[in-house]
Amino acid sequence: MIDVYWHDDVLEHDTGAGVFEAVASELMAVDEPHPENATRVRNMKAILERGPLSRHIRWRPGRHATRAELELVHEPGYIDEIERVVAAGGGRVTPTTVASPGTLAATTAAVGTTLAALDAILDGETELAYALVRPPGHHAAPAQADGYCFFNSVAIAAEAARRRGVERVAIVDWDVHHGNGTQACFYDRADVLTISLHQAHGAWGPTHPQTGGPDEVGEGAGRGMNVNVNLPFGTGDAGYLAAARRVVGPALDEFGPELVIVAAGQDPSQFDPNGRMCVTMAGFRALGAEARAWGRRHGGRLLAVQEGGYAPSYAAWCVHATIEGMLGLEAQLADPLAYLPDEPDRAEAAIRATLDALAGARA
Ligand SMILES: [Zn+2]
Repeated sequence: MIDVYWHDDVLEHDTGAGVFEAVASELMAVDEPHPENATRVRNMKAILERGPLSRHIRWRPGRHATRAELELVHEPGYIDEIERVVAAGGGRVTPTTVASPGTLAATTAAVGTTLAALDAILDGETELAYALVRPPGHHAAPAQADGYCFFNSVAIAAEAARRRGVERVAIVDWDVHHGNGTQACFYDRADVLTISLHQAHGAWGPTHPQTGGPDEVGEGAGRGMNVNVNLPFGTGDAGYLAAARRVVGPALDEFGPELVIVAAGQDPSQFDPNGRMCVTMAGFRALGAEARAWGRRHGGRLLAVQEGGYAPSYAAWCVHATIEGMLGLEAQLADPLAYLPDEPDRAEAAIRATLDALAGARA
């Protein structure tokens, strides 16, 4: 069984429409919904309720976070600023991060629902919990919104776990983007190991100055406690699994956390408008299984928190596959959209075929 935590208020955050994540343009005939919208988590919830995993899921209620809980990692002045923007009716906090009148209800529900899942784990009510929340949080630093994120749910959960007496916490982030906010929260700390597998997108301006490169290893007491894997575009299932097994697993074994938290984004999927990494449902199932094994080896428990995943339908199917893996189940649903299974040598074979054909034609 898995406990999935949910709160309806996560739907109240309205990001509007425009040119993908940017403001609307008069050059367009039709504005499209901002990629971080309520539809994505409504579909994730629906497939878990209606699909074959439903009998393995216990639905649990989320809650709102308190101001004091937000302050576990965020600066009071920053929280004030977000509250001011929302009270004024919303607007763009960064070029891609949009607030609306319902944003505080949603963001505090995202953090509080994550903490409800954490508390159930630490109270021994469950060994495996998934906080199905939005907006995502992993780009949010102590005093900086970034990349659709306002408050950092996984970072707050890690800090809350520390305050409850968990000595060492590890966060493993496989969202397609660099977990720069989480990195920033714990960069000089030896008690929270932060690991991010991500597409090599680099820094993207003043809200995201971190590069996500392997040289960002932490500083001071935290030196060696921040791990970045800057994966190339098109990495695919095999590459993600190799990074999970050759980097994440050994780093966790060396650190010895008492609790593992996964920042589970499904935007590495092959159909995500925000990523170019080509992971299929099979890949997410394998990552889910790896995560459960990490949790079993280190404290016996696993908390997963929803981050990105922006393909309106396919992200939901990939959430289903991720949880299948966490539960140790074979595929309960066939992949409705997958291209051929990931075969790293396929491009090489295509290139060779073309070169051979050209050579033959010119011979
Ligand atoms: Zn992402």
